[in-house]
Amino acid sequence: MARIGIITCANCTQDANCAAVVCLGELRKRRGFFEGYPKDEPLELIGLISCAGCPTLAAPEKILRRVKAVADFRLDALHFSFCMTAVCPFLHKYVEIINAYFPNLELVLGTHKPVPPADFRRGIKELLCQTLNPPQTMGDMIRGTMKTPGE
Ligand code: SF4
Ligand code: SF4
Repeated sequence: MARIGIITCANCTQDANCAAVVCLGELRKRRGFFEGYPKDEPLELIGLISCAGCPTLAAPEKILRRVKAVADFRLDALHFSFCMTAVCPFLHKYVEIINAYFPNLELVLGTHKPVPPADFRRGIKELLCQTLNPPQTMGDMIRGTMKTPGE
């Protein structure tokens, strides 16, 4: 059995209200970055965390607090969500820090199949900077029902 954790971008899950449904769907269906596991090996989701919020250049290590919350439960692999790989300027620093602190934890850079990162970043920017009330959410982006500004 592979014991799996997922870490997501707090901008996407908290500010843009994503419940990680696509990440979790791909895990259940063993698609995207979960299809590489041996077919006869059950996958168990041990925990789903978001990053600790943008850390400034001063304290990228603060992500360890969040990772520890799942890594302490005999985790085999930690998947960085697609959104983290597409928008996070600290991604490589995080990989370096987590690797140094948890050398036996496999880090996988992805969850669901990538969408073009430039399109994704444009959508995230619209979600994070919008002035609509009620605000649109990641669910609107996933379902393709997002309104463009001025619509
Ligand atoms: S961009 Fe990176 S540091 Fe900022 S909230 Fe997203 S994952 Fe966290
Ligand atoms: S990768 Fe996609 S589904 Fe998963 S948390 Fe990020 S935006 Fe949501």
